Amino acid sequence: MMLGSDVSGLSTNAATAAAQGLSIVVPVYNEAPGLAIFHDRLNTLAETLKQRHGLNCEVVYVDDGSADGTLGIARTLTATALDVQVVSLSRNFGKEAALMAGLDHATRGAVLFMDGDGQHPPTLVETLVGHWIDGGFDVVYTAKAHRDDESFLRRQAVRGFYKLINWGARAKIPADAGDFRLLSPRAAAALRQLPERNRFFKGLATWIGFKQLRVDYEPAAREHGVTSFNPRQLIGLSIEGLTSFSVAPLRFASMFGLLLAVGAFLFGLSILWETWITGKSVPGYPSLVVGLMTIGGVQLLMIGIVGEYIGKILSELKARPIYFVAEHSVKRAPENTAVSTTDRTAAE
Ligand code: UDP
Ligand code: MG
Repeated sequence: MMLGSDVSGLSTNAATAAAQGLSIVVPVYNEAPGLAIFHDRLNTLAETLKQRHGLNCEVVYVDDGSADGTLGIARTLTATALDVQVVSLSRNFGKEAALMAGLDHATRGAVLFMDGDGQHPPTLVETLVGHWIDGGFDVVYTAKAHRDDESFLRRQAVRGFYKLINWGARAKIPADAGDFRLLSPRAAAALRQLPERNRFFKGLATWIGFKQLRVDYEPAAREHGVTSFNPRQLIGLSIEGLTSFSVAPLRFASMFGLLLAVGAFLFGLSILWETWITGKSVPGYPSLVVGLMTIGGVQLLMIGIVGEYIGKILSELKARPIYFVAEHSVKRAPENTAVSTTDRTAAE
């Protein structure tokens, strides 16, 4: 029995890469106003990639239960220079689930994840593809070049988050990396094999290893609408990422407990010392109450942390599907040679 997984058969060089092509996965949630323009840009991009690398492309739009006309517009998009798949989820499952749905439906070799709100510049995709085909990199990820536009508090929170999640980790998740990234066929195959339901894409894409490359860029401003992540959701996502990816909070809890116990022991010694040597009986009330409250608070906090992990175990145990597809359509571009799903499965 083999306990690991061998994806070496899917390694690519410049010649085989082009034949397998590229799937561009775009999660869209209430992106109706800009979707048609975005699609035009992708068509232009696909033409460029075809000329430069002989690469056949497809786009997989995952409509994450949009409440506006996103799905209606997505249905009408034409497959001019690249194949168009529209996968519509049965409700809003969240971006991570939408990315997974896109990865599951991608039929080409390499996979590129990109937002549908215009913040991820299509011109940068040419650079990413270049690093994959010419440079031989498996995971080409983009990261914010700087966070000058963000508040001091937010920058510190982000720093703290990455410090904690990478604490003692063998494969460190690069700070500031986004979901805008390209995976070679073997890296995509590896990502597909990870069985967990609580997915934290940035973490998993790092964890799989292979040749990784960071590309710095400055995200464009959103062209329409507003971000769907408010501070409360970002905190939720961070806790989600932390608990589904690292046991650092649990270790932190144990160490903090140990520290507190040592502190209490030393405090006890000092009280003994005072009573024996100076003969003073220590007035105990305030220190007793402070001690009790500290220990009570810390215990509740730690139980909360443990509870987060138990919640994770429960949701993994229930093993519910991460998403449901309500509707799926495929349009083939005239010049693209069809690559069916069965070809990919056979290759794996
Ligand atoms: N998105 C999604 N489901 C959601 C929220 C967002 O599919 O529940 C998509 C959204 O349409 C966009 C991408 O995820 O293409 C990034 O979302 P957003 O721009 O709101 O996030 P930000 O860029 O601010 O991180
Ligand atoms: Mg955005």
